[in-house]
Amino acid sequence: MTTPKLIDNCNRHLNYLRVSITDRCNLQCLYCVPRELMSRLAQAEILRYEEILRIIRVGVSLGISKVRVTGGEPLVRKGVYEFLAKLTQTPGLNDVSLTTNGVFLQENLVKIKSAGITRINVSLDTLNPQKFEQITGRDVFSQVWQGIEAARAMNFNPIKINVVALNGVNEDEIIDFARLTFAYPYHIRFIEYMPIGKSGIKTGPLLLAPEIKKRIRVLGKLTPVRKTSNDGPAQRYKLEGAQGELGFIHALSRHFCEQCNRLRLTASGQLRPCLLSSDYHEDLKGPLRSGCSDEELAGLFLKAVQNKPSDHNLAVHRPEPVCGQMSAIGG
Ligand code: SAM
Repeated sequence: MTTPKLIDNCNRHLNYLRVSITDRCNLQCLYCVPRELMSRLAQAEILRYEEILRIIRVGVSLGISKVRVTGGEPLVRKGVYEFLAKLTQTPGLNDVSLTTNGVFLQENLVKIKSAGITRINVSLDTLNPQKFEQITGRDVFSQVWQGIEAARAMNFNPIKINVVALNGVNEDEIIDFARLTFAYPYHIRFIEYMPIGKSGIKTGPLLLAPEIKKRIRVLGKLTPVRKTSNDGPAQRYKLEGAQGELGFIHALSRHFCEQCNRLRLTASGQLRPCLLSSDYHEDLKGPLRSGCSDEELAGLFLKAVQNKPSDHNLAVHRPEPVCGQMSAIGG
């Protein structure tokens, strides 16, 4: 096992790298990127797969053991399945997972599984096909739902469904989502909306996890599920008699900065130590393309870690917009 070297000034051990492999997406979710702002990086600006794999190998030599592949939409990038297969075979990585909007899931599940991925997160903010189109700009709810069902039939486990809680958009569906856990083994995770970059969501009172939990209690008692070492920041619960679980990501209301173990690699090759602070990042692409050594890359990892802010400082009632779009950073 690698001796962890990615320990920041707050004594946090960073072992989790979220890797955005593209800024492109086949959906345009209102809360993620406003329709008029769907810009795209030029092909040459995006890290090549071999560059990403090299960065990850260096990260692993410093103690990274967990990688999540995200985007943009990772399944729109050509060659993604071959990349995933190489990634899951990287010595020292013991957890590789994928976050997708599910549009291309069903037809590619065999390739995803053959690449060694067993756990997936699918983003789905509504169970109503019309509303799905309003939020995402595309009428593909059934495609996504069928993808989730097909993943269940192929024993992907767990299948986490990420629901961004949006007042005035899907707050009337909180109970319907929670009810799904009685019928299906899915892990429904409610994520507090984060005001990051420009957004098509009108700011107003935010729908926060404590309020969501309160509403769900009409369905029964929420029993906490014991955390495992691979758990992320979600607080996990189960309703009595449910097959699935509920998770709450208090990104704002009780943010989890003190436990944050994450670094992020953007599609354009920036290593970001904090999702919500755009001030501190290291450019890896420039040095990589100028022929730097693995030791130099490792030095940039260590520098990013030393610059990890203790706290993202996003106040619930006075959120300051953060630079960079979620679609470019990867969530
Ligand atoms: N395309 C993939 C998907 O849809 O899951 C991966 C990229 S997406 C940026 C990753 C996650 O970020 C999704 O679960 C999405 O719902 C979440 N997300 C995007 N913008 C957000 C925001 N402003 N607040 C909270 N979560 C957000």
